[in-house]
Amino acid sequence: MIQETTLMQGMRKKMVETLITKGITDQKVLDVMGKIPRHLFMDRSLEMLAYEDRAIGILCDQTISQPSTVAFQTQLLEVKNREKILEIGTGSGYQTAVLYKLSSRVYTIERQKPLYTSAQKLFDELNIHPLCFYGDGYKGLPQFAPFDKIIVTCGAPFIPQDLVSQLKIGGIMVIPVGDESQTMYRLTKISETELKKETFGNFKFVPMLKDKQQ
Ligand code: SAH
Repeated sequence: MIQETTLMQGMRKKMVETLITKGITDQKVLDVMGKIPRHLFMDRSLEMLAYEDRAIGILCDQTISQPSTVAFQTQLLEVKNREKILEIGTGSGYQTAVLYKLSSRVYTIERQKPLYTSAQKLFDELNIHPLCFYGDGYKGLPQFAPFDKIIVTCGAPFIPQDLVSQLKIGGIMVIPVGDESQTMYRLTKISETELKKETFGNFKFVPMLKDKQQ
């Protein structure tokens, strides 16, 4: 059991109120983010900042996305119980934990070994069990495809075709696309050859890495 102070609980409640003022309306997303101890997904020295609406640095010069971005992407994904979900960019594991509480069939890929290792350790401590992979998100997980939903949590320079092909017909992918800053796309796979594309404003993510694994 994870112990936490009423101070953390109070700050988390305030975070949820902020998410509502920022336009998050999906009650399931708000409930889940109201329960997950975000402060455990970062260095202890930063935990007093955990419930502010800001991105926070983690290992390997990466960041946990700010809570309103996590909530927004999750809301766009429209996760239903028992859906099979693929996340690209495990990072701290916070977004993974949010997804896992909405549907326990979560697969997540991380490109950087220290992050892959530390997220897995934390998932064990929290008693949540997403399937974690150390690998290249551009390739997805063809051996486990098709997925109902795919979420990319790093800025992709383009829409990776391998990920589109691993999406079910009727499935949804949420992906920020762009180099310096990114446009949030929601892609719905209408048929093997047709994608419905919707856009939802500009964001700033760490880049989706193309170089060799670290
Ligand atoms: N969802 C994370 C966000 C972390 S930032 C969280 O809640 O903390 C994005 C992550 O994507 C980083 O950890 C980065 O290492 C990872 N990443 C970047 N390029 C990747 C790739 N090609 N495949 C898999 N992961 C990648």
